[in-house]
Amino acid sequence: DELISQIAAGEVVERPASVVRELVDNALDAGATQITVRLQAGGVRLIAVEDDGCGIPREELPRALKRHATSKIQSLTELEAVDTMGFRGEALAAIHSIAEVSLLSRSAEATESHAWLLHGRTGEMTPAARTTGTTVEVRELFYATPARRKFLKSDSTELAHCLEAVRRHALARPDVSFAVWHDGKLIEQWRATAPNDPARALERRLADVLGEDFLADSVAVQWLGPGLQVWGRVGLPDAARARADRQFAYVNGRYVRDKVVAHAARSAYEDVLHGQRQPVYALYIAIDPTRVDVNVHPTKIEVRFRDSREVHQAVRHAIEQALAAPRA
Ligand code: ADP
Ligand code: MG
Repeated sequence: DELISQIAAGEVVERPASVVRELVDNALDAGATQITVRLQAGGVRLIAVEDDGCGIPREELPRALKRHATSKIQSLTELEAVDTMGFRGEALAAIHSIAEVSLLSRSAEATESHAWLLHGRTGEMTPAARTTGTTVEVRELFYATPARRKFLKSDSTELAHCLEAVRRHALARPDVSFAVWHDGKLIEQWRATAPNDPARALERRLADVLGEDFLADSVAVQWLGPGLQVWGRVGLPDAARARADRQFAYVNGRYVRDKVVAHAARSAYEDVLHGQRQPVYALYIAIDPTRVDVNVHPTKIEVRFRDSREVHQAVRHAIEQALAAPRA
């Protein structure tokens, strides 16, 4: 089972940023409103993610590190309409097989009077102190697989990938506060905005994470169809400051890399520009969960649409409309 977990780890964990992504997914699934990521040496020495979510009850702590232990779906029919980020129950087990993991958690259940600390290596549990929520610490990633460790880049490159992972989450959840520390220094902090005006909250978060120039150089996108909505912002094709690495697409709140969306955005740009240019966008797609399969890849970064033509057309039209609208 150790070997199977290590193989699974190879699919789930490429580098520290993969661990960051999985741990933040879990924090969000737990209903966190505040997530703090602490890194040392680009995440290779330490990745700690602290949340104020629902916590893990004492008797379930050891199970969290076991393979296919998920508290999130009970049946295959639920997989059809999965609305949590995680559901495969392999991330923590995979990480546990290639790093030193500890879980510190206090459950929101009233029967829990304090927190518990589980040392992954020994399985030992000790009582501890903290408020409701969970802290997962991952140390010495790939210590057991030196060959993998050799493929890691410099600390600053790994840190950049970790930051990108948090950024992707932050753009999806303006209602959650994020902080990132590296080697004892606070390097990013994005505060939640009151959710009474979601459109404003999203704009605020986009500006905080991508810079005020992203907001200034982009227009709002909104397209409402039956069972399919597209919104967000798209960069003006003639904006001088545009950066091609700013392509963020979300499907039902999940960051995805999707060819259909990317191609639709390029087509829309070409129609307006009559030339080639990498589009810039933060696009959010809400689609009936039965019309999209999220269980395509272990990292869940790819999705498969039942009807990809429909999605392509919606995204393309949404962007074309936004770019054609008269601007103030
Ligand atoms: P999955 O997210 O696919 O269920 P994981 O391996 O990522 O699988 O996590 C295993 C289980 O551990 C989760 O189903 C959840 O019950 C628990 N868990 C992990 N992280 C947290 C967290 N931050 N807060 C609460 N529960 C957590
Ligand atoms: Mg998970």
